[in-house]
Formats: sequence, C-alpha cells, structure tokens
Amino acid sequence: AKQKSINRYEFFNPVMDIEAFKKFSLEKDLRKAIEENHLEVYYQPRVCAKTGRILSAEALVRWNHSEWGMVAPADFIPLAEETGLIAPLSEWVERAVCSQLKSWQEQGISLVPISINVSAHRFLSKNFISTIKKTLEQTQLEGKWLEMEITETSILDNQELVDSTITEIKKLGIKISLDDFGTGYSSLAYLTRFKVDVLKIDKSFIRDVTINQANATVVKTIIHLAHGLGMRVVAEGVETKEQLTFVKQQNCDEVQGYLFSKPIVFEDFLRLLANRIIT
Ligand code: C2E
Ligand code: CA
Ligand code: CA
Ligand code: CA
Repeated sequence: AKQKSINRYEFFNPVMDIEAFKKFSLEKDLRKAIEENHLEVYYQPRVCAKTGRILSAEALVRWNHSEWGMVAPADFIPLAEETGLIAPLSEWVERAVCSQLKSWQEQGISLVPISINVSAHRFLSKNFISTIKKTLEQTQLEGKWLEMEITETSILDNQELVDSTITEIKKLGIKISLDDFGTGYSSLAYLTRFKVDVLKIDKSFIRDVTINQANATVVKTIIHLAHGLGMRVVAEGVETKEQLTFVKQQNCDEVQGYLFSKPIVFEDFLRLLANRIIT
C-alpha cells in the first residue's frame, strides 16, 4: 500500500519540475507586482452604437513586468486564480479604479461609469461585498459609477449566494453585466432569475458576423432576447465598419472594440472623453 502512494510521475518527470518552478517564480513575481504597484489599469471606451458617444469604459488590468514588459491578463489571471492571488489583485484593481474616478471627479470632469471584471472566484468569495463597501467608503465614491462584469460561470452554482451577492451589489447602486455572453454554459433560466442590467455579446460571435449566417442569427437573437428582458446590449470586439453597421441595424445599444479604441491609459482616455464622441 505504501508503494502505491508514491506517484513516480510526479517525482521523476523533469518537465513537471520545470513547469512547477516557472509557476512558482511567476507567482512570486506577481505577488511582488501587486505589492509594489507594477500593475496598471487600461481603459477601453464603450460607445453608443448610433452616435459614437462615449458612455462608459471597461477597466482592463496590465502587468508592467521589469523583464518582459507589458504582460496581458490572459497570462496571469488564471495563475492568480490558482494561487489565491486573485483576491489581492482584484482588490488592487477595484481600489485603483475607484481612486482614479474620484480624482477625476475632484478635477471637475464629468464622470462616466467604469466596469470592472470580476472573476468567479472573486464574485463568490466571502469578503467580496465587504471589501467593495470599504473601498467605496475610503475613496468616497458612489457605487453608481461602477459596473461589475461577471461571467456565466459565476452564477451557475450556489444560487442562494449568487442571489444575495447580486442583491448586495445592487444595493450599492452598482450595475451588473454578463460578460462573454453565449460562450459559457448558458442557461436562459438565470436571465429571468437574476437582475442583470447589461448583456455583452462575446467577440467570437462578432468576428464573422458579416460573413457567417449562423453567427448573424445568434447576434440578432441575443439582442432581441436582451431587449425583451429589458437589458442593454453591448457588442464586443467590433473591429470593422461592416460589423458596426450590422449590429447597429439590429438595434444593439453599445459597441466596444478596436474600431473605436484599444484599451488605453487613463490620461489618454481622459483626452478622448474631452471630445465625448469617437468618429
Ligand atoms: P474580457 O473581459 O472579455 O475583455 C475584453 C478583451 O478583448 C480585452 O483583452 C480587450 O483588450 C480585448 N478586445 C477589445 N476590443 C477588441 C477587438 O476589437 N478585437 C479583439 N481581438 N480584442 C479586443 P485583455 O485586456 O487582454 O483581457 C483579457 C481578459 O482578461 C478579459 O477578457 C478578462 O476576462 C480578463 N481581465 C482583464 N482585466 C481583468 C481584471 O482586472 N480582473 C479580472 N478578474 N479579469 C480581468
Ligand atoms: Ca469584460
Ligand atoms: Ca468579454
Ligand atoms: Ca473573456
């Protein structure tokens, strides 16, 4: 029995050791990056489909690594989730966004709401609501300037916890959007159960929307469904005029994508906002 418990693969596979080591050093670096403020928040405008007017922006985290330069979130968010660093990372982003919004308000600039990505881990964690409350209190920012982007995986299980978390978020005046809609384990039941304000159509549907009939049908249907339920709809990943024309024809409310702007630093976003309309 004793012999069986020894997993040879784990002990003798050098590839795994290297992987484990890489992960370990990356984890150490990330921990340090959070502590030493080597993270940055970029902002990508969300604009009115009809007029191009900037209505809000999405906050997207970046890691400015001393050796590798700007690291994209896809390369460290999963690691953060595995290692528990997602809690301090999320708190860092929430605080950064709230204080940037506050400083903006203090300069007399009229605000637009900012949406923050909330991973399932974060959304379902015990202290999520209490830290958000604390951050709002400490930065003296009203919740109405925030929106939380959650994904379908966040609301699959644990219905009671999801219910109470959404209720608490709403009490703070914070809006909720459902991100990457259509890519997860979609169940239409939760659309009627939970009070979600905004549906964001995943960019994978938008990419081929003008050449792929099936994708066009999916996008049309999602927009129709969302409006029927009283939600706003955002098309993500809009890169071409043709894609914009299509979603506009379908009465999509807002668009986000490289056609209008890539994610940019706060100062550049403020400059864009000064004109309000992106053409
Ligand atoms: P997401 O929430 O779906 O964010 C949209 C992603 O699409 C962003 O990638 C954005 O740069 C990219 N994008 C925007 N417009 C276009 C376009 O026209 N074409 C294409 N091809 N891509 C476009 P990014 O910034 O690399 O973020 C990747 C993912 O990392 C995000 O996907 C989100 O799930 C996660 N993430 C980013 N910031 C945070 C954060 O602060 N907290 C958490 N938990 N997750 C985050
Ligand atoms: Ca998002
Ligand atoms: Ca998305
Ligand atoms: Ca995504």
